[in-house]
Amino acid sequence: MHVPLVLTDFLDRAVHLYGEKAAVIDGDRTYTYAEMQGRVNQLSRGLKALSIEKGDKVAYLAPNSLEMLEGFYGVFQVGGVMTSLNTRLRPEDYLFILNHSESKVLFVDEELYLLIELVRHKLEMVKTIIIHSATRDHDGCLNYEEWLKEFSNAPFDCVELEETDYASLLYTSGTTGDPKGVLLTHRANYLHAMSAMHHLRISDEDKLLHVLPMFHVNGWGSPFYYTANGATQIMLRKVDPAVLLEKVEKYGVSVMHMAPTVLNMVLEEAKRTKITVDHPLRVVIAGSAPPPAFVRKVEEELGWTFIQVYGMTEISPLITISEIRSPLEVQSNSERYRLKAKTGYEMIGSKVRVVDELGEPVSNDGKSIGEIATRSNNVMQGYYKNNEATSAAIRNGWLYTGDMATIDENGYIEIVDRKKDVIISGGENISSIEVESILYEHPGVLEAAVIAVPHEKWGEVPHAVVVVRDGHTLTEEELVTFAQSKLARFKIPKAFTFMDQLPKTASGKIQKVVIRKQFWDESGKMVN
Ligand code: ATP
Ligand code: MG
Repeated sequence: MHVPLVLTDFLDRAVHLYGEKAAVIDGDRTYTYAEMQGRVNQLSRGLKALSIEKGDKVAYLAPNSLEMLEGFYGVFQVGGVMTSLNTRLRPEDYLFILNHSESKVLFVDEELYLLIELVRHKLEMVKTIIIHSATRDHDGCLNYEEWLKEFSNAPFDCVELEETDYASLLYTSGTTGDPKGVLLTHRANYLHAMSAMHHLRISDEDKLLHVLPMFHVNGWGSPFYYTANGATQIMLRKVDPAVLLEKVEKYGVSVMHMAPTVLNMVLEEAKRTKITVDHPLRVVIAGSAPPPAFVRKVEEELGWTFIQVYGMTEISPLITISEIRSPLEVQSNSERYRLKAKTGYEMIGSKVRVVDELGEPVSNDGKSIGEIATRSNNVMQGYYKNNEATSAAIRNGWLYTGDMATIDENGYIEIVDRKKDVIISGGENISSIEVESILYEHPGVLEAAVIAVPHEKWGEVPHAVVVVRDGHTLTEEELVTFAQSKLARFKIPKAFTFMDQLPKTASGKIQKVVIRKQFWDESGKMVN
């Protein structure tokens, strides 16, 4: 008998086994799994009353919250496609995504509604706007809590779903350009969740603090695998290191997922306030590569277990994980940290290769560089309404990630750079990540981004943009001297710019495209 893999199973399982357990804590609201399912049923009935049918897109623009979590299941129960929007975009981006996705209903947190109001008259398909956490009325919009009350919380007859039905339409982070809509099926999300829950050792004892934004695919995987295991999910609405640490202590948080830039802020705050967490805590790092010195800091100063994952929206998102595999004899602590700082090895269900331009695997010597290609059940169906981008990304059944890496004899891959961020200077390739990780070793450096800038003789040269840690002063000369002992000459940044902060995406990734714009003019020359 064929039983389709559909995501609603996860909530059903949690209610069946852990119905009376705290499912979600959002501020002063706590709901058990049974109570949450009641609300989810109300939501599904409400969506049905709005004529949402299988395949219809339902958009969410909200911070991490109870409403967002119940939204996933409420939408799936009626066969809708969850389209979650990044909370840091501009009104015109929302207009583009809402029209492009043909979303019919929009749920939006009151705090963010203003951005929608500005473009509301140009929305083509959105018929209904429903406001979360509403403190007052908004013309022509529904108030979520009042609207929910109109519907019964009794068991809901889910729409029949096939595992090949779409569950989500997610737009990429837009780190390198315009966001693209990624279509993922129930099957892709389901199998990804199974693999992630194994590798992250998730259990019913876990207490997850939702730090990564849930609208983002990385944060978005967690409502599946933590729910399936009956874990308690605690919401962090805004990334504030002090509030984060407070919640970790108050609720005995056991696991969190975040970008290294956010963890960096947490490290600073923990040091400043001398806070120690005296229960086991795993921190899953996603989104960009941390240097080994950083891993050491997290494990030694905070005593937290460091796990790194790699993936992208197009793959549901994770395909590799970096933790110490038992068969590997690890000699020393520094070897441990070095391995953990690597991007990782393939997770169950994913094949990961590093290939040359012809698609042939490069040597697994830990030195030869190629592009990461993957084949797995988690891979997207394609970019929504963008066949050209789809066929550029998926070739002969392999998804080409645009990330350059090496692979070693144990199957560990290590990202060298994004293809678009590699600096090509006098015919030599320079990894921006390698140069950044050297700069991060300097105690005065809080954040660093290394980009290519145009150069008459060399084509491009590396240029560093640095944020200095509070209480330190730093000059270009000092950093050059520091880098000289650790980097080949051509890799040392030719100039440094000091900034108060670096532009970042909502998930905390440094946006080098935005930084680059300040140095390149339209004809490809250096700005003044
Ligand atoms: P866009 O595709 O719109 O430019 P994006 O690629 O940042 O944005 P995501 O899908 O959120 O959108 O991010 C995936 C990318 O993040 C990967 O392709 C990779 O470059 C980077 N990344 C993710 N995890 C890691 C990691 N552990 N180490 C280094 N880079 C990582
Ligand atoms: Mg990308």
